[in-house]
Amino acid sequence: MKKKVYAGILISLGMGAAAGGLLAAGARTGAAGEGDPIPGSEPVILFDQGLGLGLDASDGSFYPMYLLAAERRTGLYVQAAPETFDGVLDETEYIRVSGDAEKIFYARDYDEETELYDFSDDTWKWEAGEYHVSLYLNGAVAEEDVVFRDMKDIRVLVVPMNTFYGEEWLGVEEVPEDITDFTMQVYPLGENDLEWNVLKQEDGGAMDLEYDINSVTGRYRIWRELSGLDDGENPYDLILGLVPRNIRTSEESLTADIAGFTFGGKTSVISLGDTCPAVTVAHEIGHCCGLGDEYENGMVSPEANRIPFGMRGRDKRSLGDMVTGECPYIISGQDGGTLGTGTLVRREQLPFDVLTGELLERDMSSFMGLSGFPREEYWTTTDIWNRMYEVLTP
Ligand SMILES: [Zn+2]
Repeated sequence: MKKKVYAGILISLGMGAAAGGLLAAGARTGAAGEGDPIPGSEPVILFDQGLGLGLDASDGSFYPMYLLAAERRTGLYVQAAPETFDGVLDETEYIRVSGDAEKIFYARDYDEETELYDFSDDTWKWEAGEYHVSLYLNGAVAEEDVVFRDMKDIRVLVVPMNTFYGEEWLGVEEVPEDITDFTMQVYPLGENDLEWNVLKQEDGGAMDLEYDINSVTGRYRIWRELSGLDDGENPYDLILGLVPRNIRTSEESLTADIAGFTFGGKTSVISLGDTCPAVTVAHEIGHCCGLGDEYENGMVSPEANRIPFGMRGRDKRSLGDMVTGECPYIISGQDGGTLGTGTLVRREQLPFDVLTGELLERDMSSFMGLSGFPREEYWTTTDIWNRMYEVLTP
């Protein structure tokens, strides 16, 4: 379920969509906590598929995340103090991998500011298996055992729609090619693990759903009809209706203000007219996998992804009982310097983009936060990665 910000007002759709409410967007205060970098004394081997360092919520420290998906681009870094660097990168700095495959990686770069050696090699594909990893920096200095797992597929049925916006009949002409990119960036998925099935009508066009999407009853009928498209033998994880424009909360409403809606279950409708539909896709998949929202008064799921410190949400396990984010180390992006309401992701956690093979040198916040901000604001978090790894492990 997404919400959108307009001039300090949050327009929300509750479960059931009829229960939409208006909330003043108040700033939260009182959140504290800084993630401390890993102490520089011991070199740390990092396999980076989206986040190199997780946040330990018990004390705010960072730790290497070794929940790894097979057949996914992987940054291979070593965090080590400048004293370990002898000024030249040659055959004395390397990582030896043994186990289900053998390989030697040589350091390509050392950056004194981030204290990172870059051993990444994009020509190497990590197949599913168990590996023993030894790091040499002019001698053996660290060892790790890691496992790369095959992940379950996420199966999405995508339904481009024609529908009424009041009197106006509008349709989706084309599904943007990059709409799955963000999902691949932020979830532990191998390169072929996202199954994206676009439903085409006989004429190759979008599906006609002759209801008024600007009305609650129209949205409910659309949702019900889309839900009926599920494949009984091999059910989809998500049925995703696509519409061309944002939706009005009611026929009387003057502004187009909903980026998407659902009446529960695994069927959602999202607007391609939103600032970043690719982020909405990942957000809706998250809900289907048990993730909750990360914004004030959202439907939250703290056992999956904790909400930021001081944030209040309705607990989806207990019919909307209010819960408050209590961990002082998990803070909202808005309290940490980004625009997003979701959990702050620090650049020190080494966010890695599998599409470019590069580290993203900026703070971001969780895509389970409010929609409506630029795409560059959003990323995955420790809790989300851990949860999705559990859900997607066969
Ligand atoms: Zn949501």
